[in-house]
Amino acid sequence: MTVRTRVAPSPTGDPHVGTAYIALFNLAFARQHGGQFLLRIEDTDQVRSTPESEQAILDSLRWLGIEWDEGPDVGGQHGPYRQSERRAIYEEHVQQLLDKGFAFKCYRTAEELDALRLQKQESGHQTALKVSDLELPADEVASREAAGAPYVVRMKVPEEGTCVVQDMLRGDIELDWSQVDAQILLKSDGMPTYHLANVVDDHLMEITHVIRGEEWISSAPKHKLLYEYFGWEMPKLCHMPLLRNPDKSKLSKRKNPTSIMFYERMGFMPEALLNYLGRMGWSMPDEREKFSRNEMFEHFDIQRVSLGGPVFDVEKLRWLNSLWLRELSPEAFAERFAAWGLRPERTLPVIPHIQPRVEVFSDVAPLAGHFLAGMTPLTVDDFAHKTLDQDKTVEILQYGLWQLESVRHWSKESIEEALFGLARQMDVKIRDFLSPFFMAIAGTTSTISVLDTMALLGPDMSRSRVRHAVEVLGAPGKKKLKKMEKDYQSMVAAIAAAVADQ
Ligand code: GLU
Repeated sequence: MTVRTRVAPSPTGDPHVGTAYIALFNLAFARQHGGQFLLRIEDTDQVRSTPESEQAILDSLRWLGIEWDEGPDVGGQHGPYRQSERRAIYEEHVQQLLDKGFAFKCYRTAEELDALRLQKQESGHQTALKVSDLELPADEVASREAAGAPYVVRMKVPEEGTCVVQDMLRGDIELDWSQVDAQILLKSDGMPTYHLANVVDDHLMEITHVIRGEEWISSAPKHKLLYEYFGWEMPKLCHMPLLRNPDKSKLSKRKNPTSIMFYERMGFMPEALLNYLGRMGWSMPDEREKFSRNEMFEHFDIQRVSLGGPVFDVEKLRWLNSLWLRELSPEAFAERFAAWGLRPERTLPVIPHIQPRVEVFSDVAPLAGHFLAGMTPLTVDDFAHKTLDQDKTVEILQYGLWQLESVRHWSKESIEEALFGLARQMDVKIRDFLSPFFMAIAGTTSTISVLDTMALLGPDMSRSRVRHAVEVLGAPGKKKLKKMEKDYQSMVAAIAAAVADQ
């Protein structure tokens, strides 16, 4: 048997370090066994998936040194590798399940489903929705069908009992069938859900080992049942521990930058980031901290993964990166530094903002140094302002940060929309409102437009600098933050209403 593993990201946002972590362990496992590793794009969520996100995932995994034997951009024998291009395959497989009586068409409306759930809750039955709850009388089904009512296809799931799933790291995991919904397999728009597409693809792509994050454990019973329904052998499952913030909560961009692109922008070496991800829950037999990708592959053993939540600590990563940097020759250092900060793709978009404002080249670095920087060195005094006191400044920055976190397509226009709407709602003049952002992002108010700068720096670097500024000024305590969150929600509602009125 040839070992075949895969990583299956959904292209719905910035490329996440968690995706790289899972990809690395899949790649290491495949290489250790002389097998193959492939990349599949799970873009069945058509609303949230974007081609830009897919490209960013491919680019950042490659930047890290993760390469795949098959995938949407390199091809292979088992394509297409993008789920949106495999609809006919899923339809055919759903039909098989319908024919065998393992799935059923469900014509229930959203309102009916809500009522059913409520009924269950009120009757004290904490169980999921089953076929027995969802079934409609045959004549009702026929009339809805005749009227062309939308439907989904759901799988039949046992009402009770336990499902035992074997996990390579965790042994037997027992899950309760009563908690598992009659899962939707095909949505009313004809697109498959994750569960159906994932199982069909893993089988057709001949995946032997599914190594993925532990958040998917609860999906395993549905997958196991689908393999049984289809009469296929199920790949071995391995659920990796989730990456955590230093406070042990699940790694989230509210506490830690999570986009791989942030670490590139910050000037981390890809070798060091990959090395650090290899240290997440895993260690070399001799416990050495610094190792290359190939050294990891040579000594890899999945059984050495420990299940205690691995902490992704940026300070630790910086330290590891410093070890990698120190080993470069001066020539290599110069070359790598230039490739990082001075390559045309990075400098060209900035030049039009700088060129009209300088007289000699030596003016460039003081004006635009913040494009090559990480966190801005700041003190409370830097934010002194004639009309805004410190509390107000913290509010502006914190509310602004939440607004920036909600921006999906990062551009000057979308940043402007997010911040200006808030400024109007807070009744602060735009000029005053932007002043703390200038400080947070550029460390000065006399430089090029802060909106342009944020657009060029990207979402993660911009948000991190604003978050850093809030910390410098004194981040609000838990109670205050709760109140601010509430106030922010009402402002968001008011901003939306104002937009709707326009
Ligand atoms: N598309 C899923 C994700 O985004 C894949 C989960 C799996 O590996 O089965 O993580």
